[in-house]
Amino acid sequence: MMNTKIKNNNFICQIINKDFNKNKDLSFRTRFPPEPNGYLHIGHAKSICLNFELAHLYKGQCNLRFDDTNPLKENIKYIDSIKYDINWLGYKWYGEIRYSSEYFSKLYQYAQELIKKGLAYVDHLNKEQIREYRGTLNTPGKNSPYRNRTIKENIELFQKMKKGEFSEGEACLRAKIDMSSSFIIMRDPVLYRIIFTKHHQTKKKWCIYPMYDFAHCLSDSIEGITHSLCTLEFQDNKCLYNWILKHTSVTHHPKQYEFSRLNLEFSILSKRKLKILIDKNIIKGWDDPRIPTLSGLRRKGYTPSSIKEFCQKIGVTKQNNLIEFGMLEYCIRKELNQTAIRTMAILEPIKVFLYNLDQNHKEKFIVPNHPDNPEMGTHEIIFTNTIYIERSDFKEKYDKKYKRLKLGEKIRLRYSYIITAEKIEKDKDNNIISIICYCDLHTLGKKPKNNKNPPVIHWISVNNTIPAEFRLYSQLFNIKNPEQQKNFLFYINPASLIKKNGFIEKKIGETIQKKINDNIKLFFQFERIGYFCIDNIDSKKNYLIFNRTVSLRDIWNSKKN
Ligand code: ATP
Ligand code: MG
Repeated sequence: MMNTKIKNNNFICQIINKDFNKNKDLSFRTRFPPEPNGYLHIGHAKSICLNFELAHLYKGQCNLRFDDTNPLKENIKYIDSIKYDINWLGYKWYGEIRYSSEYFSKLYQYAQELIKKGLAYVDHLNKEQIREYRGTLNTPGKNSPYRNRTIKENIELFQKMKKGEFSEGEACLRAKIDMSSSFIIMRDPVLYRIIFTKHHQTKKKWCIYPMYDFAHCLSDSIEGITHSLCTLEFQDNKCLYNWILKHTSVTHHPKQYEFSRLNLEFSILSKRKLKILIDKNIIKGWDDPRIPTLSGLRRKGYTPSSIKEFCQKIGVTKQNNLIEFGMLEYCIRKELNQTAIRTMAILEPIKVFLYNLDQNHKEKFIVPNHPDNPEMGTHEIIFTNTIYIERSDFKEKYDKKYKRLKLGEKIRLRYSYIITAEKIEKDKDNNIISIICYCDLHTLGKKPKNNKNPPVIHWISVNNTIPAEFRLYSQLFNIKNPEQQKNFLFYINPASLIKKNGFIEKKIGETIQKKINDNIKLFFQFERIGYFCIDNIDSKKNYLIFNRTVSLRDIWNSKKN
């Protein structure tokens, strides 16, 4: 939640505060205007948090409006996912969901108004010609040969466009502004184009569709939006935004303000590019945990509160920058440190045989679910003469710094005894298949005789396990700024997903199996390994899959760019 401190320190709040000083009865209204052409990502979350939190802070409202002016790219499945994600974040839009397409009749009338004022015309230049005529930053544009048609002619031609009497690309409606404007956007921008594609809302009613710039400002006005917040790349579009409002008969004039978009290290935040990754099968879908879509982050184990905390931390400014990935991870790690149940899991098992224990040796240990929070309860683990430890926790050949199990040396099993590695067994390919150890039964909860506490490792008893798959995610890109690269596909990290087949403790596994169909997210800290959550999508009752949400410590910062 934003607090009142933020009311003063973010530049948008300063603007709003001034507006309230001028008008105490201002009925403050924002909107979140997604285009339903993909799933929401963490960048959208920044915009959602900003718009909804401001509405809350200033006792106003925030609308959800689908900016659905391009049926070629839109899909009802995107609408459903966007609604789901906003609800998941915990925000409630004001009243009904809005669609720009609801306003198509009104927008058509406003377009006619512009024509009647001599401020819009039907053009027959094709896309390439329009681009060519537009000129560049250094050279002015050229007028279209169709620019000086009569108003009457333009009205008739626009009607013909609407009736479907032209083919796609054969005609468009353009504003008549200034082909030599220093703002290229003002060089007779296209307002309407012809598309013969069924629209998810208006079906086959229209074959002309307003452009974003025309629809957006008018939709904001129709909805009584007071502060229309968008990202910096729309800065130049603001003159067009204001021009359209000025020259049509709308009475309410919203104000547009721009803030910098979120850029996140190692990430792509463009729906178009994310779709390329999916279409090329580089990732599994919009909810792949390796991309920062909200569905991907959710699947990876991020919570709404951690995402909101992140959005609050990064703040809102006009400075473009690249946010450290570690900042996002910090937010979820901090939360899971408090909430995740501690348990032991072995990702890459190797057997340890404790030769001095009886074959039927079976001890129960009651261990805490969280070391600092007794209210989170306890669970039971079983200790027997054959256990699994992590393969990486034993080394036959080692240097002095190696602080885990080695031949002739001691190690403490977490919550249990100190053992000494005495022998190893290998298969014919020279792979270690088991480690034979001595278990000192006088060391439970006690220091060894020499008073030196050896390092601690985790373990599970071989016959007290449930098998599980562990999915370890790394960055999808091996550079920090893939978004800036022309060929971002060149920088894919081939090891962004590593799957391990190991084991979890039986009691924990059984609890998860009972809940797996309830779609409840369960979070764990597998001791010494990281924070994990159950993958609700691919897991089956008899095949549990865990996603690594985040490592125990920040691992990206030390990496080279
Ligand atoms: P993309 O480039 O991912 O397709 P977009 O801007 O085309 O993004 P929209 O659906 O039009 O996506 O965005 C809805 C709202 O979210 C807009 O107000 C937009 O400014 C905002 N938004 C999108 N990406 C970001 C981002 N990276 N940071 C902050 N706000 C964003
Ligand atoms: Mg957009």
